[in-house]
Amino acid sequence: MTTETTTGVSDKQAKNPYIQVEQVLAQFTVPQLQCETDTGIETIPLAEEVSFGSWQPEIPEEYWQLDAETLNTRIRAARERLGDQVVILGHHYQREDIVQFADTRGDSFALAQYAAEHPESPYIIFCGVHFMAEAADILAQPNQTVILPNMEAGCSMADMAAAPDVYSAWRELEDLFGSTEDIIPVTYMNSAASLKAFCGENGGVVCTSSNATQVLEWAFQQGKRVFFFPDQHLGRNTGHAMDIPLDEMVLWDWRLGPGNLGGRTPEELEHSRIILWQGHCSVHQRFSLTQIEQARQQFPGVQIVVHPESRYEVVQAADANGSTAFIAKYVAEAAPGSIIGIGTEINLVSRLAKENPDKTIFCLDPVVCPCSTMYRVHPAYLAWIMESLERGEVVNQLRVDDNIKANARIALERMLALK
Ligand code: SF4
Repeated sequence: MTTETTTGVSDKQAKNPYIQVEQVLAQFTVPQLQCETDTGIETIPLAEEVSFGSWQPEIPEEYWQLDAETLNTRIRAARERLGDQVVILGHHYQREDIVQFADTRGDSFALAQYAAEHPESPYIIFCGVHFMAEAADILAQPNQTVILPNMEAGCSMADMAAAPDVYSAWRELEDLFGSTEDIIPVTYMNSAASLKAFCGENGGVVCTSSNATQVLEWAFQQGKRVFFFPDQHLGRNTGHAMDIPLDEMVLWDWRLGPGNLGGRTPEELEHSRIILWQGHCSVHQRFSLTQIEQARQQFPGVQIVVHPESRYEVVQAADANGSTAFIAKYVAEAAPGSIIGIGTEINLVSRLAKENPDKTIFCLDPVVCPCSTMYRVHPAYLAWIMESLERGEVVNQLRVDDNIKANARIALERMLALK
């Protein structure tokens, strides 16, 4: 007999070697990536980064040893010379040495929209991760070129939903139910362009952490059940907020391979309203009930706000949950003197602490790592692509295939029409 936690992980699944490896890895953090709310992340020369070997290696050697000050000076100079030729977008989770150069900062969707609304700039430099630059390319004007500073800046959550695994699951659902007409695929913004296109082709839609409820309400008007990927937690937390019982939201474990119905029984799937993909954000899944309990003990009266990519039990124990924009607003609107424990990426928490000196702001995870893939956008990469642009050389252009782009745009436009 297997038992199941509220997060849908059974004893049997917990014995899965993939999960075991992940649990072991979670115990280790790279020392220089450990940081506290008030210290932020200091830029060190690229060559001294312990993970540099797995980052984009094509960057010329002249950039490897440059310190933060030199890089800042060179980027600033290139920025001035390029003027309106470039628009620089900075995701909330980027380090300060990158965000300081951004024309705007925000979440992935807001940034992509901003770029599309500035057609006077032919080059969009997206300081974020791969799926974000893809979304910008999907929404960009025909005259715009999207550049990702480090092509190895991916997203572990997006990588958990590989297109072949999703197609295979879809076929299994089709075989089980006889048709997928009543199943609406919904992909979180944090997914590959190919999956957004899959949703566009199959009557589905894209959602963000700001509009997931609205999108799911729409989806349930179109069909009987939702196939939600790649983030199980956002799907479950949103479903719960819509009064969908936990046992009607079942987890599809793609790691079990084709032919296993994602580890569910036909009866469980028949009973389900939301089929959740086994995916998560490695940053937000670190937040725990214990951290919240410790924060409440240490700071009586503390307010806890977390991102909905956190586990169900963490969201339930928090005072509020919402997107990065929601968290920023929550902090800004809190009364002076408030103490707020936040469950999201350290760069944003650190920035909010600096911008709200009249409040005590801290990250729930005392040794939280930044998002390791966002971290790959080191200023040396930004200097490299900008100085290359000055010479008329475009490096690291991110281009989505036209067919995928057209279908992905359908799914994005369905979401936009809901506003
Ligand atoms: S914070 Fe999580 S979801 Fe966002 S880019 Fe990093 S791994 Fe992906």
